[in-house]
Amino acid sequence: MNSATASAKPALINLLDFDRKGLQAFFVGLGEKPFRATQLLKWIYQEGVTDFDQMTNLSKSLRGYLIENCRIAPPEIVAEQLASDGTCKWAVQMHCGNRVETVYIPEERRATLCVSSQVGCALACSFCSTAQQGFNRNLSVGEIIGQLYLAQQRLGAERRITNVVMMGMGEPLLNFDNVVTAMNLMMDDFGYGLSKRRVTISTSGVVPAMNRLNEVCDVSMAVSLHAPSDELRNELVPINVKYPLKELMEACREYAKTGPRKHITFEYVMLDGINDSIQDANALVKLLKNVPSKVNLIPFNPFPQSRYRCSSAANILKFRDVLHNAGIVTTIRRTRGEDIDAACGQLVGQVKDKSRRHLKLQSVGALHGV
Ligand code: SAH
Repeated sequence: MNSATASAKPALINLLDFDRKGLQAFFVGLGEKPFRATQLLKWIYQEGVTDFDQMTNLSKSLRGYLIENCRIAPPEIVAEQLASDGTCKWAVQMHCGNRVETVYIPEERRATLCVSSQVGCALACSFCSTAQQGFNRNLSVGEIIGQLYLAQQRLGAERRITNVVMMGMGEPLLNFDNVVTAMNLMMDDFGYGLSKRRVTISTSGVVPAMNRLNEVCDVSMAVSLHAPSDELRNELVPINVKYPLKELMEACREYAKTGPRKHITFEYVMLDGINDSIQDANALVKLLKNVPSKVNLIPFNPFPQSRYRCSSAANILKFRDVLHNAGIVTTIRRTRGEDIDAACGQLVGQVKDKSRRHLKLQSVGALHGV
């Protein structure tokens, strides 16, 4: 066979790319019954079986078809770092050579996986190291659910992941369809069976996608707020220029009405002298007045070349007290995995940047003589 005919063979279909509905349509298209979908899901996500020959409740001819045309191909863990607090960070290699990072955070009563949704990030939040990497592409469904698959394989049967937060690299709502399909698999009784309260999507505030999510998928919502005014938020989270606070808060109010937790969690990174004054806290209380909210204060995690410092512990406590006294449930996020750069905003992976942002940054630096 010459190479032209070899490359003409269609690529094998990765069955990790489908949720239950997608698999049902796939099997019906083959002239099979829709229940084949739940059988396959059980094999993959509950039994951890990826060899079609072992799927004994599928007919021999169907197994033969799957062997010829399909594959179950998660990405690959290529490095593992274990922090002193038990947090574990995996470098996950995609078939195209890019890498993302996935973080496992064990606690006494739960085990959380922080999952990436994109290779790099197209948003340019000024305090986030993922942003400095630029952007390559969206992850496929198989590459997103594959992170949970790999983590669960690695941890073995005695340690189940109980919670997933879409808080790794990337802006999940800018990879809407793939993220929603992967979250469906996380919550499917024949997939990982996680409750919708235990799957959280975090967004920097892509308002139209928040409204769309409200219609198609029921998961907990966290919003990376970080500033109580448009002026400051435009600087820290530049997507705010497109979707300012008034629109964002309206979308949050709507989402909270039907979301599984009936409130929105607001993430607020504590930046010394930037957004951590008592006035900022009071402005935040005012902003959140009509939105059922919980606030999660995140001590800023530094990274090479970051131009911010973390607020002092005393200032973080004072800030929290203002919110508490106004009746807002506020927690201070315990920083996990800091010694292996696995904390919020420190995930970098290996991104073949297509946005050429690093070049722009360099040239801006050159203009300013730095
Ligand atoms: N793009 C989504 C998902 C990323 S979640 C979002 O913005 O919500 C990662 C969380 O960590 C976000 O709340 C982000 O704002 C926060 N973060 C980013 N850089 C950080 C840093 N250096 N220190 C602390 N938190 C940071």
